[in-house]
Amino acid sequence: MAAKHKKLKLTKKTKKEIQKIVFQSTVCFFAVIGVITTFVFIFKGVSALFAKKVTEPEVTQDFLTVNSYSRPGIALNQVNGIVIHYTANPGSSAKANRDYFENLKTTHTTKASSHYVVGLEGEIIWLIPLEEISYASNSRNTDTIAIEVCHPDETGKFNDVTYDKLVNLVAWLCQKYGLSSDSVIRHYDITGKNCPKYFVEHEDAWKEFLEDVQDRL
Ligand SMILES: [Zn+2]
Repeated sequence: MAAKHKKLKLTKKTKKEIQKIVFQSTVCFFAVIGVITTFVFIFKGVSALFAKKVTEPEVTQDFLTVNSYSRPGIALNQVNGIVIHYTANPGSSAKANRDYFENLKTTHTTKASSHYVVGLEGEIIWLIPLEEISYASNSRNTDTIAIEVCHPDETGKFNDVTYDKLVNLVAWLCQKYGLSSDSVIRHYDITGKNCPKYFVEHEDAWKEFLEDVQDRL
């Protein structure tokens, strides 16, 4: 009988100890979770503090008149990409290209435009509000921002200052819409058109351009 009693006492003690261990383990578990969560929040906060911010490009706002040939005034509800074009008009300025688009309301020769034109001196003209579609990228007009880029000659290659301003503008737009350089495409990628010529004919230069954009982000 005595032995049985002793055994019973031991069992009670063991039970208490088990309960204590379970309680301590639970407290420890939640403490560890709490510490991890705190560190994640601190890390995220510090990362956000030191995250690179793309410099907002200097642009000249010179909106086109709303008209059905170059600024249809249709809402652009979702931006999923940035489309690069070349003007196909060697030596022409950003202003000349802007005026060409503006005059389509009178000439009616075609339907065309873009949100921005980047010029030979690195100047950027902003033609269409980002909440409206432009007429540049065919089936992707409805979910992209279009940029026309000026070039000095028939090769379609952008000069250094134009290139640099374009990289900055595209990176800034990517940042604005939470996109990576994977969402930056050529007109060629939509329709197969040789636009922008130099980046279609020089795949390596196009890849380098995308890397340059990504590096700014
Ligand atoms: Zn194009």
